Amino acid sequence: MYQRQLASHGMGAGACLAVSGIDMALWDIRAKALGIPLYRLLGGTSRPVPAYAGGVSLGYQEPKSLVDEARVHVESGYRAVKLRIGDTVQNDLARVAAVRKEFGDDLDILTDANTAYTLSDARTAMPVLDSHGVGWLEEPFPAHDYRSYREARNYSRLPLAAGENHYTRFEFDRVIEDGSITILQPDLSKTGGITEALRVAALASTWKLPIHPHTSMTAINMAASVHFLAAIENAGYFEADVSCNNLFRDELVHQTPFRIDNGGFTRPLEAPGIGLEVDEQFLAAHPVIEGPAYV
Ligand SMILES: [Mg+2]
Repeated sequence: MYQRQLASHGMGAGACLAVSGIDMALWDIRAKALGIPLYRLLGGTSRPVPAYAGGVSLGYQEPKSLVDEARVHVESGYRAVKLRIGDTVQNDLARVAAVRKEFGDDLDILTDANTAYTLSDARTAMPVLDSHGVGWLEEPFPAHDYRSYREARNYSRLPLAAGENHYTRFEFDRVIEDGSITILQPDLSKTGGITEALRVAALASTWKLPIHPHTSMTAINMAASVHFLAAIENAGYFEADVSCNNLFRDELVHQTPFRIDNGGFTRPLEAPGIGLEVDEQFLAAHPVIEGPAYV
């Protein structure tokens, strides 16, 4: 039904965010009514899902302090980390070099420029990131800037990643056809919910492309993303939010949305539905306010 709504209201972010939340709630209700965890309703199995330490941490700081922060996650089991870049290219490359030097080649280093690069920045940075064995460069440019992605894909072998700001299978259809972005990162809570993310995953599977869902910002979305990854055949990484003071992860629900084992894997929750219970008092105490939720 919501396809009609999107057709009449447009596929703008607001409409899509709204239907995403409703869709996720309906999947949760259906699985809870059946008394089974969501991954089973989606046809999945309880399998280990590789995770990387990400979120809004591991950002702009001195290389030494970044290495110290990364070490905490590596020692807790993570085999992959995502560094926030998009500062000056020089600073970005120094940070990546420091992390690679400290942890060696076994650590998968991913990078996210959060749309802050120019084409010139990308041209300078991408070959060097590739030489450091970086797994991907995420969102060097805004989501709609297809031309820059097309241009930059030829700067090095380094794969380009995006998707957290792409909405519905129709935008992913263009991304995939374009061929520049090969690491696809739909966010279940943004792109149209679990229903739409399953469609994006099916579309991508025909092109042999993996799905590495973006997982801002709530525990609900994080746990739902693990169920989703346990149910699709082209599952990539789970983005484990390791940022400090994320109350939407830690206080919004009564349970822990994910745990990482010492091999860097997580598994879907076993309780019925998404596996979480919302703390209604927390929700009531934190009403919606104007302004960006995060940057
Ligand atoms: Mg990102």
